[in-house]
Amino acid sequence: MSIDNRVSGRTKIVGLIGNPVEHSISPQFQNTLSKIMGVDLIYIPCKVDKNNIEKATEGLRALNLTGFNVTVPFKQLVMRYIDEISDDALLFGAVNTVKNINGKLYGYNTDADGFMRSFKEETSEGFHNKKVALIGAGGAARSIGIKIAMEKASRISIINRTRSKALEIADIINSNFGNIAECCSFEELRNADVIKNYDIIINTTSVGMFPDIEGCPFEIPIKFSENQIIYDIIYNPKKTRLLMEAEKCGCKALNGLGMLLYQGILAFEIWTGLNVTEKAIKQLFNLFKYGSVQQDL
Ligand code: NAP
Repeated sequence: MSIDNRVSGRTKIVGLIGNPVEHSISPQFQNTLSKIMGVDLIYIPCKVDKNNIEKATEGLRALNLTGFNVTVPFKQLVMRYIDEISDDALLFGAVNTVKNINGKLYGYNTDADGFMRSFKEETSEGFHNKKVALIGAGGAARSIGIKIAMEKASRISIINRTRSKALEIADIINSNFGNIAECCSFEELRNADVIKNYDIIINTTSVGMFPDIEGCPFEIPIKFSENQIIYDIIYNPKKTRLLMEAEKCGCKALNGLGMLLYQGILAFEIWTGLNVTEKAIKQLFNLFKYGSVQQDL
């Protein structure tokens, strides 16, 4: 038996608040990242009852944590208890990263930047002048849709089961970035002549996510063209039904693991003020995207 020296009185503590948190790979990811970067920081998940978000936030402040991540279902609700929120997070309507500086809580959103960084790194493409179909209109769709508008996409068609939520996102985009967003129906998209008009198709719905892995937001078969990019932000399973269909059509098909890893890297940079090196990023991707941890998602 040897002494466990991993945590000392000087160790910085970062938390995750959400419900559920059991499935999250963020503790493994952030603790590995701290180790790679040589930072004395520990990341712990905290499952919070839905009625306790205010107490939890105040508790983390009182315990002087360095910061915390916020996940489902608190990304919107937590904003009430944060002292200062970044302009992007206000526009996205959600906070997923909080930094505590001398008892003052600062809120950020790294989801959309994580998506964008992953998209650009993994495709070597951007959104300038691109026509995009955004499937879904939940929290992730809102931040990704707005981010794509910031990157000057020429058209963003939002398709969602509940049309009113798609309209809401289209309105935010149109009133901030010019008239580029519209709502569209799944029926319209089924038409091969319509779907081929999009350069990039992004699924932000939870359809196809574990355990309902046979689910697909589109009716199968789908006639994608081989020059299209299909990005599914789901990361479990690694290859959703939608991505399998996209590969059959010869498209570039990407899962949400890159987004997940980059949003975590950006949060780590906010907490520590450090830049995660390219070498560290490579190591993390080898472990979590291509390596053994991925199998356990
Ligand atoms: P959310 O706010 O609850 O939104 C869920 C979306 O899925 C809504 O558009 C909802 O449509 C749609 N949906 C759910 N069940 C459906 C069904 N049976 N048929 C059609 N549409 C359905 O969730 P979120 O936070 O945006 O997350 C959505 C997905 O993204 C989840 O799978 C999550 O794991 C993933 N995600 C990944 C990352 C990453 O880093 N890769 C980050 C965030 C989220 P309605 O509006 O009609 O209900």
